[in-house]
Amino acid sequence: MRTSALLIAVLVAVPLVAAQTDESISYLGVKWDHEPLKVYVAMQRGTEGYYSSLLTALNDWSSALKDASGNSQAFDFVIVSDRKLADITVNVRKNTGMVLGMASIKDRRRDGIIDGVHISLAAENALGRPLGEEDFRNIARHEIGHALGLGHSTDEGDLMYPAYDFAEVGYDVLPSACDVAALLNIYYYDGFGEPNAGEIPPSYQC
Ligand SMILES: [Zn+2]
Repeated sequence: MRTSALLIAVLVAVPLVAAQTDESISYLGVKWDHEPLKVYVAMQRGTEGYYSSLLTALNDWSSALKDASGNSQAFDFVIVSDRKLADITVNVRKNTGMVLGMASIKDRRRDGIIDGVHISLAAENALGRPLGEEDFRNIARHEIGHALGLGHSTDEGDLMYPAYDFAEVGYDVLPSACDVAALLNIYYYDGFGEPNAGEIPPSYQC
């Protein structure tokens, strides 16, 4: 089984130029076993303007999974006002240094089922300038992808590609067909709850 906590960071980086011949997305080796997923959001004073973008990012994953699965009753997130009830907590802070986003996934029982996720999101870049709404949403979507069990992609066209050059993005990057197919491969078409795939493979080949 996996370690009890996994830390994943998105850092500012220049795009890689090495040619990739095959597109694959790794898995974190853990998954959820219930539906819907409850989300608690805490926003530092001065970052409240990004709240609707965070909701959009959650909805984009939900919509993409509903569309690809044909199951409009599943893959739901609900916002809760009590942190203790949350599956996923999201903290938005002004400046987090070079780290734009981070997801910490807990599997305390080491049974492959996620017990909780904590996501940190920056509202400012490393220079202290507010992120564009699109860039904030892209980073949020990437971290939500981790919160659902995805690792990183080898293809820079995927949301789960690990390098993010916020100086050059500035438009919305939605979950790709590969990002979505990788998740459906472990959750099937019935949502985040069980039954799910048994053993999670190391990666998904698109
Ligand atoms: Zn990442």
